[in-house]
Amino acid sequence: MEVKRNVLLNPGPSTTTDTVKMAQVVPDICPREKEFQSIMKPMRDDLVRIVHGDVNDYTAVLFCGSGTICIDIALNSLLDEGKKAFVINNGSYSSRACEVIRAYGMPLIELKQPINEKPSLTEIEKVLKENPDVGYVYMTHHETGSGLLNPIREVGALAHKYGTFFITDTTSSYAMIPINVYEDNVDFCMASAQKGIMGMTGLSYVIGKRSIIEASKNFPVRSYYCNLFMQYDFFERTGEMHFTPPVQTVYAARQALIEYFTEGEEKKWNRHKRVMAAIHAGEDRLGLKEALDRSVQSGLVSAVKYPTDPNWDFEKVHDYCYEHGFTIYPGKLERQGTFRLCALGAIDEEDIVEFWKVFEEALRVNGIQIPVKY
Ligand SMILES: *Cc1c(COP(=O)(O)O)cnc(C)c1O
Repeated sequence: MEVKRNVLLNPGPSTTTDTVKMAQVVPDICPREKEFQSIMKPMRDDLVRIVHGDVNDYTAVLFCGSGTICIDIALNSLLDEGKKAFVINNGSYSSRACEVIRAYGMPLIELKQPINEKPSLTEIEKVLKENPDVGYVYMTHHETGSGLLNPIREVGALAHKYGTFFITDTTSSYAMIPINVYEDNVDFCMASAQKGIMGMTGLSYVIGKRSIIEASKNFPVRSYYCNLFMQYDFFERTGEMHFTPPVQTVYAARQALIEYFTEGEEKKWNRHKRVMAAIHAGEDRLGLKEALDRSVQSGLVSAVKYPTDPNWDFEKVHDYCYEHGFTIYPGKLERQGTFRLCALGAIDEEDIVEFWKVFEEALRVNGIQIPVKY
């Protein structure tokens, strides 16, 4: 079977290989069969290996849902009674984390920081010094809305210095930017199969310290479906997800993991960097400007400012690119028109070279001046 290949430059779901797509086509199976369970255990271990954790210290707990389910689960399950959640907010995904905490009515310390530069470690430390009742520190690793990369190693170290633990949302960096949970001081991270490992949507995972998950058994239970300890405990006892898993997505994830380890961490990260270099080269050639300085970017997302040309119309440019097999995506920056070009997925430099030809043609047919104007 031939499947049309689209190049997705949106921040996930990402372009997948045909082998991953086809891995979903399997004989019908009840996920309570031993055959299906035998896929889950090695998958959990592989997910821990990606961030260089020892499976005796760290574990992966799988859930059926999009990436946000992990934000919800980690935040609501890991806060002990009488403790406060501390969130460093410098982008749309950390704002989402704050919304989750407020929705549960949990005590929150929100430290707002500029969205276009690294957060202040001094201010973070000040909050920790003044609030001995912080239950965990939470920060987004890669703010996908802007492309900002946050300093997890330094913030994780501060959390530990003040006797608390560190949760980071690595949904848009995991299995792309190399992460080592020990060196990077990460107690909990999370991701979703449709991003870094280049699998399908519907399977997400929290990866974290067993000792803390076990201690959280005695923390308040704020959700029935979205509780980390309950799902962990069920996995440990039975090897299965508590409720129906996304069966075909799990098969695709298994294939994606094989391909991840075959490509290798370093080679894969080099490929993403090569893709971003090609994105940047095209921007420079066409005069496109970015919202963030390249020195603070993750290397995975570029947020491009809308040109001020009167003929600029994102929808029209998007539609032209889409018809030619390339998907671009609106930005997530307040008060600033931006669109995003992302280096996720099973794509390489030559795809970006092709993309820029199409993009340039889109500018031409819409009468937008080249190089673009600001
Ligand atoms: C994609 C993403 C998520 C999850 O978003 P969903 O739409 O729920 O899959 C969470 N955090 C970050 C940083 C992301 O990039």
